[in-house]
Amino acid sequence: MKFWSFLSNPDKWIRGHIRRGLKHALFGDVIAEYKGERGEYKASKAADKAFAGYNSISMCDVYLPWPDGRTAQIDQIIIADSGMYVLEVKNYKGWIFGDERNQYWTQVLTTDIRGESIKNKLYNPIKQNATHISCIRRIIRNHTVPIHSVIVFSDESEFKDVTYYSSDVYVVYQRSLKSTLKDIDTQYKGILPEGDIQHISAKLAMAASRADKDNHVQKVQASQDICKEREARGVCPRCGADLVERTAKSGHCIGSRFLGCSRYPACRYIRNNK
Ligand SMILES: [Zn+2]
Repeated sequence: MKFWSFLSNPDKWIRGHIRRGLKHALFGDVIAEYKGERGEYKASKAADKAFAGYNSISMCDVYLPWPDGRTAQIDQIIIADSGMYVLEVKNYKGWIFGDERNQYWTQVLTTDIRGESIKNKLYNPIKQNATHISCIRRIIRNHTVPIHSVIVFSDESEFKDVTYYSSDVYVVYQRSLKSTLKDIDTQYKGILPEGDIQHISAKLAMAASRADKDNHVQKVQASQDICKEREARGVCPRCGADLVERTAKSGHCIGSRFLGCSRYPACRYIRNNK
């Protein structure tokens, strides 16, 4: 719903939200859907606390479109006068090993009392976030605003050997997110004019609403394609099971023949057989 008031008068809408200092201005509804102790939610709370009282706009769980039709899912974007912050939240337990230059990082979990451990591979979150950042840059068409890449790991994880080199990359525990953001903010304060904060957030909001629409259209299209393909094969368009011929045993069509799904009553699809 919030998008409609945004689309009808974006400037007034954004000014209103900034004046009230309301965080999650653009994606407050989405945030409200997060329940319980999800890491993304905790991280976003901590991040917003770091900017409490400042002019800033925070967007959570943002879907942005790529030119090829895919979408990038970004945990949180904050736009402040110290630049943009792009957060990638990782809810991993155990030991974390990783190097900025590697394609994959490793999580090591100790599983039982004998101390046997299992290793899992995860895609390098710094590379993943770099992709998100290039998607954002393409949309905002601004190559000078500093974009800080912040990777947040759960407090239940432990960095055993995590190495990175870029000055605009931060890999932190959830518990130190707020202080890290405050440090970056102090260092870069005043670099982004207030007008740019609004301008960038408006561009991202537009792109995000386009991605929502594209996603929806793609899903509907895909389900229609599946139905058509099943109809062509002569199987149930709803569930793909065989259709069987039945005779109505009651009702005003009693005695008439029809095709029904063989999975009845689990699937109640019927087609009139005329
Ligand atoms: Zn069926």
